[in-house]
Amino acid sequence: MAVIPAQIFNQINDKSAEGLVLALASGDDGAVMEVQWCNRAFSRITGYSEAEAVGQRGTILVGPDVEQGVHLFIIEKLMNWENFSTRTLNTRKNGEVYWQRMRWTHLSDAETGDHWWLCSIVELEDQVVISGQSGSERPAVTDQESYERLVAKVHRLEKENTRLHKLAKSVARDANEDALTGLSNRRHFEVELKTWIENLKKNGTEFAVLYIDLDRFKFVNDTLGHDAGDRLLVSVASMLKELTTDSDLVARLGGDEFVILKPLAKSALNISSLADEIVQRMQAPFSCEGKSTACSASVGVAIAKTNMEDPEQVVADSDAALYHAKSQGKGRWSFFTEEMHAQSIATKQLASDLLVACERQEFIPYFQPLIDAQTGRIACAEMLVRWNHPTRGVLAPVHFLDTAANMGILKRVDENIFSSLHGALSRLDDAGVDLPRVAVNVSAARLADPTFIHDIKSSGISPDRLTVEILESVYLDRMGDVVRWTIDELDELGVTIALDDFGTGHASVRGLLEIRPAILKIDRHFIQLVVDDASARPLVASIIGIGKSLGMRVVAEGVETEEHARIVSDMGSDYLQGFYFGKPMSEDDLRDKLLENEGNFWPRRSVENSSKSVQQAG
Ligand code: C2E
Ligand code: CA
Ligand code: CA
Repeated sequence: MAVIPAQIFNQINDKSAEGLVLALASGDDGAVMEVQWCNRAFSRITGYSEAEAVGQRGTILVGPDVEQGVHLFIIEKLMNWENFSTRTLNTRKNGEVYWQRMRWTHLSDAETGDHWWLCSIVELEDQVVISGQSGSERPAVTDQESYERLVAKVHRLEKENTRLHKLAKSVARDANEDALTGLSNRRHFEVELKTWIENLKKNGTEFAVLYIDLDRFKFVNDTLGHDAGDRLLVSVASMLKELTTDSDLVARLGGDEFVILKPLAKSALNISSLADEIVQRMQAPFSCEGKSTACSASVGVAIAKTNMEDPEQVVADSDAALYHAKSQGKGRWSFFTEEMHAQSIATKQLASDLLVACERQEFIPYFQPLIDAQTGRIACAEMLVRWNHPTRGVLAPVHFLDTAANMGILKRVDENIFSSLHGALSRLDDAGVDLPRVAVNVSAARLADPTFIHDIKSSGISPDRLTVEILESVYLDRMGDVVRWTIDELDELGVTIALDDFGTGHASVRGLLEIRPAILKIDRHFIQLVVDDASARPLVASIIGIGKSLGMRVVAEGVETEEHARIVSDMGSDYLQGFYFGKPMSEDDLRDKLLENEGNFWPRRSVENSSKSVQQAG
């Protein structure tokens, strides 16, 4: 490369039509600078000679008439060492205001480590000046006046500059910080993640993503209150800060979700021990105003590697690992594996298939009989959803209901299946079978949907033939006004309410008192215990006792053998449901079964009981 002669440089100084300024930035903050040089065009435009300009702050380039928004924009760019160009007002030495286009270029000196700004200015002559007066109408100013004015102006500008500078800093901080914990917020995390991924691609800097989710945060919020919940989040944030270093990024993505980005050291050991430490620390009880509770955490870990095709995927990978840790029983951490990858692809496919299934109404009702423990006859049939999948056949809820719930479309599934119930009942009635009532499962989202009551009213199904099964966990979720109203309306209409899966949720008795159902369904896990484990019988007996003492009728679910049926009916169950009497079956199978047994599912029972009553009568 030819050495450019000094003469040529001098001519740039003399002949360039653009005003040029070189300013030396203070080491760590691009918005603070001191002018070191300017060319003639700059002096011509602004009226400041080189001697006057040198030593001035950046305010000489941006007049006081600049709108605050533009000023903030400029400061933000400068602070971030970004090249940019913008149109602004500026003030000449003589007080005249003019429009300029300015372009800022960041230069750095590798030898000294100094940072410089090159600012070039072009006057925009055809712009209308909004404030100030034109030069010709202005009275001439003496040197003394002009000097005093200048000093005053510099002071004013410097004050303004400092104020805006502080403001810009705090705006920048607020925009990046989670207000509650002081950690990075989601926005900042996303910006940082991009940078980390660019570094990975450019420099091969691999890193780990740890996705952290508290296991029982809702429970803490619901039982100890929101203040306690907030305090828990703050203490988790400070624990995470304590366990990480300045080179890691710790963010709260919202709610009780946190994420850590950590550069990968030579071994992955420090990552696993960090994940382990987080899980361990979260096992310790958390106390708040004298009350103490436990709130474990689960962690999913994935590594962004140089050989990854799609490193942007790493956060979704860590989320899949988190999901795995949760499904393995929570309070633990897992590493992302290829299997999980396949799983997450399958889940995505399932999600899109489910949307199509809703459109095409591919959900069909199956029915499982509930038996009257006294007579052995069918008392009700529970409608259980099945997905009539175009290629995979009839699928049970375990294959799709969780995904539908995560996608927020469980409500649509419930709507879909409920709309088919009236037709099914009419056909069964027409076939001459005796089906006294039918029970439907409703999700929390469906209960919180005001159209549910309308759908029941317009369904053509008689309300006194309908039972609505509510999951016990619903009241913890959203016993909001709409749910409360829905439950009251159901009562009013004469629909029977059953509380499902009793005993599996938290604080069961509270749910019971809040919903006051007519029917209590005891979860099949309790029922299955009574045969294998005699010591469990008092527990099950007391659960049945609670329901009975509140005037409820009790259903035992999961009755698989005659022994089960006998034990739980002797304990006081009013109704029995389970594979012993029948698995969930299609409408046609239910019809055939009922035609065949005439509604009698436990013949020996009906014989025993009728002979008992004959003996009693005799
Ligand atoms: P659930 O309401 O507790 O329904 C009873 C589940 O227990 C049924 O599983 C049934 O097949 C199974 N079961 C019945 N008797 C026995 C038995 O003797 N032994 C064993 N091991 N299992 C038995 P299914 O049909 O797979 O339904 C699973 C869950 O899916 C239901 O549990 C319910 O929570 C949900 N679900 C089903 N249909 C719907 C629906 O239409 N809407 C909503 N929101 N949820 C539904
Ligand atoms: Ca149920
Ligand atoms: Ca159940």
